[in-house]
Amino acid sequence: MATATSTETNTVSLVNISTEKWPPRHRTYFGSLEIRSPQSGEAYAITPIRGCKALMDLGDKRVMEFPITAQEVAEDIARELNGDSGEGSFHGVFVAVGPAPTESELADARRRLEEFQRRLIASADLEWERTRNPMFITDLERRAARQLGLEKPWLYDPKPLAECPVCAEKIKHGVAVCKSCGAILDREKAAQYGLVPQEKPRRESTAKQDGEGKTAQETMKVI
Ligand SMILES: [Zn+2]
Repeated sequence: MATATSTETNTVSLVNISTEKWPPRHRTYFGSLEIRSPQSGEAYAITPIRGCKALMDLGDKRVMEFPITAQEVAEDIARELNGDSGEGSFHGVFVAVGPAPTESELADARRRLEEFQRRLIASADLEWERTRNPMFITDLERRAARQLGLEKPWLYDPKPLAECPVCAEKIKHGVAVCKSCGAILDREKAAQYGLVPQEKPRRESTAKQDGEGKTAQETMKVI
């Protein structure tokens, strides 16, 4: 069991070029850490990482103190964030050599990220060819296509079906009439297509004109 006691003063920069949001990382030796994502207009975001000392409980009230360098902590986090999507997965996080990433470090990360995203898209294309089912396309694959600005037939989630309030049958969004029980779900639309008689034009304006001095309820009766 290791617990944090103190931190070293030197920091390294964990750089993130992806707009992906990750839940905070947890380690017993530093607690919880939020990884910054670039805001719109920013090419990258830096999360400063500090080293720390951890205590290892050896039992019998004996503890062993050992340092974990900032570099080790940062590399550990980068590995975890990048590696959660199978072999060769990369999500745009790396440890910069200096306090800020160099152009070549950024270019390298962008290249690796795009390579990974193109692989995801290729696998989604293959899946789509086989199944034509958008259910088999992962969020990660969709995000990759959007980030690379590619139009794909599998990019769109079919709208989930709604439920008819009368018969509880699954129906499409925006239908005027339930095809199962015939309930009018959108009167205006149904009237537009002659499925129900057009509503009589409201007399609100006339009611207002000659409705002076009348209460709201009286005006309602006029209509
Ligand atoms: Zn119905």
